[in-house]
Amino acid sequence: MESKGNGRIEVVGMGPGRESMMTQQALEALDAADVIVGYTVYLDLLGERFAGKELLSTPMKQETERCRLAFAEAAKGRSVAMVCSGDAGIYGMASLMFEIREELRDDAAGIDIDVIPGITAASSGAAVLGAPLNHDFCVISLSDLLTPWELIEKRLRAAAEGDFAIAIYNPSSKKRHDHLRKACDILLETAEPERACGYVRSIGRDGEEFRACTLAELRDTEVDMFTTVFIGNSQSRIIDGRLITPRGYRL
Ligand code: SAH
Repeated sequence: MESKGNGRIEVVGMGPGRESMMTQQALEALDAADVIVGYTVYLDLLGERFAGKELLSTPMKQETERCRLAFAEAAKGRSVAMVCSGDAGIYGMASLMFEIREELRDDAAGIDIDVIPGITAASSGAAVLGAPLNHDFCVISLSDLLTPWELIEKRLRAAAEGDFAIAIYNPSSKKRHDHLRKACDILLETAEPERACGYVRSIGRDGEEFRACTLAELRDTEVDMFTTVFIGNSQSRIIDGRLITPRGYRL
């Protein structure tokens, strides 16, 4: 239980970007917050509804500073909402907030952290594409900023070997144009070139688009960082342009 007078922090997953795709719990947490902290792009996505709120942002790649800022505000006794895209606990800020509270010790004593789940890109993107994750699946990020590339390769191989459907996050960035191609080459060691795949760009945002294609076609496709990529398992099929991973029901 929260003791009176202490600030609190809610780490809020805001879903892919549209208000209708936020949970009621997330909206209520933002409504109740004294201050909303987040990366500028996500604060912009919040739109009119929160226009009157105090908003604090730090640029991309300053995640640690952003979390410290949230604690500094909460230490004043304020109610802070820290927003993340999708789910705050899936390549988000949730774990870092607990790590920083541990590091701050007495300075953060009594500051409660609540994590509020959101619709992650694997889920919202799957819905656009059809039903690509309707069996066992893995989620793998191709970002090697915080993870060694060798480990990413190992996980891709293991996922393909296990015949998991895969949702790929961070398939590209300004500096890493060839990561998806490299990932596809690894998957092609085990998976056939005709393997059903797909990708969705700008899920829940203006300009949303999707495409179902083969693994060989995906290998030669350039996607950007606002895209989530889906690799089917050996049973996945493209039906009427949508990517489907069967559950296994007999027709
Ligand atoms: N916490 C977020 C993921 C952050 S990692 C979540 O749960 O969704 C950033 C990656 O997520 C992007 O590179 C992209 O692969 C994916 N992503 C997040 N939002 C997206 C969106 N609206 N459309 C497409 N991909 C998205």
